[in-house]
Amino acid sequence: MEVIIKRLPVLAFLIAAAMAVGVSANGFAAASRAEPTTGASAPQSPSVSRTSAPLSLPESASDATAVVTEMQLPLEAVPTATPTPTPAPASPGASIPVAPTERTARVLHVPVLMYHYISAVPPNQAADRFAIDLRVPPDLFEQHLAYLRAQGYETVSVPALWNALNGGPALPAKPIVLTFDDGYADAYTNALPLLKKYGFSGTFFVTCNLIGRPGYMSWDQVRELDASGMDIESHAMDHKPMSTFSLSGLAYQMGQARATLAQQLGHDVRFFAYPSGDYNATAIQGLAANGYLAAFLKGGGSAQSADWRYTLRRARVSGYATVTTLTGALRF
Ligand SMILES: [Zn+2]
Repeated sequence: MEVIIKRLPVLAFLIAAAMAVGVSANGFAAASRAEPTTGASAPQSPSVSRTSAPLSLPESASDATAVVTEMQLPLEAVPTATPTPTPAPASPGASIPVAPTERTARVLHVPVLMYHYISAVPPNQAADRFAIDLRVPPDLFEQHLAYLRAQGYETVSVPALWNALNGGPALPAKPIVLTFDDGYADAYTNALPLLKKYGFSGTFFVTCNLIGRPGYMSWDQVRELDASGMDIESHAMDHKPMSTFSLSGLAYQMGQARATLAQQLGHDVRFFAYPSGDYNATAIQGLAANGYLAAFLKGGGSAQSADWRYTLRRARVSGYATVTTLTGALRF
């Protein structure tokens, strides 16, 4: 399926069409890949990734944001933003290709599932629906993984998704990204062993100032996840709404988080998930200013594109999510 987008009406129509066509006979969204036909992708820049596929930075922050501003996305209200293009913090070998004069977006339908705790609800919170909502017990999580494997899904990392959105190596036929927010201890004790058992990888968005606190992973555990082939990305320094910060505050929340993760992991980190999904135009500006390539919301479906790089979509998986419920998240 090809989806080439330059303007809003075309986008809205094509996404609707893609979503309609993408539902296969068994009721699950096909992981469709759009191939650009004209000048879609800037050359890949050998940059900061430790992965074999280099991260790409295909256009300037101002260009990307301008596109986001122009496009009224069908599923998310995108704030207007006209950030000053600020160069990303220097990274060894990083380069920013010249912005193409005419953008052509590639839309990939890749579900990105968002988990929090992979643990049972503590007895003293058994009646707390919020506590339940945040927790997928390990046995249910394993059912999810078994289902995904049976359906032929293959996990991909966020950098791999980003590269594919920018004309890099193609993803598997049924790609999926499994993400885990906040850095809870059970990411290490429960999620990691099950992911390994099923041959899957995960992306862990960690909040730096929570690491090492009771109930959260230690930095040693975060490093072990990283060394196990898991993907560690940024969830800010503090778990606070990013829309409440000025650019200088965001330099700490975003820039210091990136620096801290780089120091702890020994490699750069370029992707972000908004704590509680909260963001505004200034937050997007802060991401660009602090060298982030893309960021994830906490909802919005599975249509991913570099044109809305700072509002990539995720599907939240609640503690009530049976396998049947999970299929709903995969469908749209
Ligand atoms: Zn969070």
